[in-house]
Amino acid sequence: MNFKGDQFPKKEATPINLEEMRADFKGYKNAGLPAQVWQDLQEKFENDTLHSYEETLNEFGETEIIIENNDEKVIANEELVKFIDSHFSGDLLKQALVSAIDIRLNEVNYQAPSDNFIGIEAGEYYIPKDVFLKYHDKLSAEQLKHVENHVYRAESFAVWNRNTSNELTNVGLVEAAAVLPTPVAIFNQEFDKENKGIKESKLNEVGLEYLSVISEEERSKMYTLGTLSHEIGHNIFQHLVYKKPHEQEWKDIIDKLGNITEYAKEYDKGNGKDYDENFCEAVRVFTTAREWLDKNGYAEMAGYIEKYFPDIKS
Ligand SMILES: [Zn+2]
Repeated sequence: MNFKGDQFPKKEATPINLEEMRADFKGYKNAGLPAQVWQDLQEKFENDTLHSYEETLNEFGETEIIIENNDEKVIANEELVKFIDSHFSGDLLKQALVSAIDIRLNEVNYQAPSDNFIGIEAGEYYIPKDVFLKYHDKLSAEQLKHVENHVYRAESFAVWNRNTSNELTNVGLVEAAAVLPTPVAIFNQEFDKENKGIKESKLNEVGLEYLSVISEEERSKMYTLGTLSHEIGHNIFQHLVYKKPHEQEWKDIIDKLGNITEYAKEYDKGNGKDYDENFCEAVRVFTTAREWLDKNGYAEMAGYIEKYFPDIKS
């Protein structure tokens, strides 16, 4: 289906003032983190300050935890910091070149495609939760579906270190010769279909079976914290697994056991399994619902993490 601004049929059952919504959302359009990371990369390239992994690591200070926007309704700031500290050592975060952990649980990251029903310019919008809520409950089923499909829970950029100048048109980052520390970010997760499934206790329907080992009251929180672990996982995979001697061992485990979660399976489209996403999902479950791995035939994944990354605690 293709919705375009005012062409979307206005029914009485949809009392949304699209003009108002457009005006409201417009103010939150932002080049966002991808643009910042990209710019950083370009500047470093132009100034010839890109280095090898070892050189970059030597220059690296420490991972910053930035809590920009959190009303603490789902998770208290203190708890966020405690979760990171108790599951990932500072040393590991450093080796994985995580420049910052940017927490914005009070912002809804809406990445508008050009054919959005609101009729706003395509791009990345960081909508404060209270602004988003003004419209959320009035959305029709189709509009809600559109929003759910374009709300992003998190972002990570470690994989950009894998792109070559041939793959990126504006940046000549040469594979393996130049490495950039990158941030991870998490946004509001209250409005996606997964969280709805958690609240309605329909874990299987939304592919979150692993949360069954967690008490009902804790599930939403652990799901959000797990997303944070997943994103950190991307940095770990990129800098400490990808192209390393022990990468094959991980691939063999995934080939044998299959995709760990529905989410990882979504990436398995004809080109085979995505070892990076499976690793991140394994880190997610390992740090939030460890016993599920052992009980469901994924103990070897936990074993791999323990063997190569003793600094990740379950
Ligand atoms: Zn991922």
